[in-house]
Order: sequence, then C-alpha cells, then structure tokens
Amino acid sequence: MYKNSIIKTFYNTKQVLKKDSKNNVSKSPLKPKLLLEFLEENNLFDYFEIVNDFEPFVKDDFYIAHYKSYVDAMFKGRKPLCESSSLKWSKQFLESLTYTNASLYNAIRESILEPQQVTFSNTSGFHHATPDRGNAFCSFSGQVIASIKIYDEFGLSGAYLDLDGHFGNSINDSYDYVPDLDKAIPYGCNINPIDNGLKYIADLKRRLKILASKIANDEVHYIVFAHGADSHLHDDLGGQLTTSQWIECSKIVYEWIKQTEKKTKKLIPLTLSLFGGYRKDNFESVLSLHTSDLVMCLNVLCGAEIEYMPNVKQRKYDFNWR
Ligand SMILES: [Zn+2]
Repeated sequence: MYKNSIIKTFYNTKQVLKKDSKNNVSKSPLKPKLLLEFLEENNLFDYFEIVNDFEPFVKDDFYIAHYKSYVDAMFKGRKPLCESSSLKWSKQFLESLTYTNASLYNAIRESILEPQQVTFSNTSGFHHATPDRGNAFCSFSGQVIASIKIYDEFGLSGAYLDLDGHFGNSINDSYDYVPDLDKAIPYGCNINPIDNGLKYIADLKRRLKILASKIANDEVHYIVFAHGADSHLHDDLGGQLTTSQWIECSKIVYEWIKQTEKKTKKLIPLTLSLFGGYRKDNFESVLSLHTSDLVMCLNVLCGAEIEYMPNVKQRKYDFNWR
C-alpha cells in the first residue's frame, strides 16, 4: 500500500535567512526557498503541500537541549557565542532558527499523527550543535529538541538516518546533558554510515537491518531521513558517493521502509529533511540531488511515476581520486 500521494512540507518564509549570500558562507539558511523554487521550475511543485501555519519555537524550547547561557546569548546576540556556528548573527537570523527548528518538530509530529503521510522539513543546520554552543553552520540541536518534545507528548522513540557527508554529533553529544534523550532517540539510532562508495552502501544496509529489528520490537516508532547532498563526491565539504551511488542510497532507504512496513505490518511515520550540500561553483547540483531524493520517495512510497534525472555538474577542479 502506498502512502499519500503528496508530501506535506513544513515551510514558513520566515525560516529563510535574507541576504544570506552576502553575509554567510553556508547557503543552508537559503536552501529551503531555493529548493522550492527549483521544484517549481521542474514542474514538481504539485507533489508538495505547504503547511505554513505552525508556531515558531520560543526560548523554553531551546532550553530543552542547550545551556541557558547559550540560549540567552543567541536571543540577545551576545558574541562570540551567538556566532559559534560560523553564521553571522542578526535578529532575522535568530527568527529564522525559531522557524527551522519548529519546522522539523512539526513535520515529525504530523507524521506520527498521520503515518500514511510523508512529511518534509526543508531545513538543515542542526546536527553539529552541542548543548553549550553552535558548531559548523548548526546553531541549535533541532533533532534533540524535536524528539524530546515528541517523547514527552506521545512516549515514542525515533531514529535518524543521517546521510549527510559529516557525522551528526549533536545527538550523541547531548546524551549526558538532556534527560530522557536515550529514550527519545535510543542509543544506536543516530545512524551515520561510514566509509566511501560501496563500503558506505554496505554499511548503510547493515545498519538498516539492525534498525528494522528495533522497529519490529517496538523500540523505534518513527524515522527521520536526511539525505545531505554533501555526501556526494563533488561537494565542497564532503564526498563519499558518486551520483549513482548517492541515488542508490535513497532507493535503498525508501525500499527498506516499504519492506519493513510490510514485514512488521506497521505504518512507519517518515519525515524527510535536507541537511548539508555546499557547492559554491554550482548550487543547482545540490538542489538537483535533493530533488532526486524527493522524487525517489514519491515514486517508491507514494505511488508516483516521475522521471527525473539529476543534473550534477562535474567539478572544474576535482582532486578527488574517485
Ligand atoms: Zn555536512
């Protein structure tokens, strides 16, 4: 049985950082908007329903995963802490964070209420933050906050399939600080495959097999999948997979969800997110990879039959040996 034919996308224009390209190195804060425009240009927008009427997070939400001193510095714009993610602070930047973090939480919540519905938080900038500070373009631990709130409300536990090019340390670095995080995201459920190419794919499959048994045993109740485009070998800041391998990983994940739902006779709530992807020479390649991931989800899980070939440009100067 297929899931609903459209993907519910939790997007409010306030989650986009304005004037990003001039002030900041990372294009992540602008990516939600750019991706939606890209989907529209490729006549794919009809497969997405935008939900924009969710409430932004407030200070108390961020206290769940962070030191009071750090959250207060972020809300007051106190340097250097407020720029510990390497992104320039502004009031509008702070406001965008209250929406990106709320987007992820609300998307997960909706997938739990309606497991037939794939949800999408077109966001990034969470998985390197730690309790005391931001780090590497990530300001707040959005995954930790979302999952604690979900656990408090529903008593449910989640797993994160983090196929970004970089290890998402935020969850593991928060276990000692955040009470009940081991219940909200059980140990071993922050899944970041290791190695490159075929070994990466083999590691992903191995981890999915273990995760399937956790789902069958009722230890994990929902999945968040973020296929960061910086795990593509031409990205500025990553590079584990060729284009076909990157797409194969999407296929493996969605087919695995389909099979696991069949075997366990359970509907598995699924939320998608974006995470990294940084090519300065050709950002369209990043958007194209994310699009191909969304199309794979629509085709495998939602019954669509979309033909979409990702257009990933060769790097001009590529020193990568693969
Ligand atoms: Zn990354």
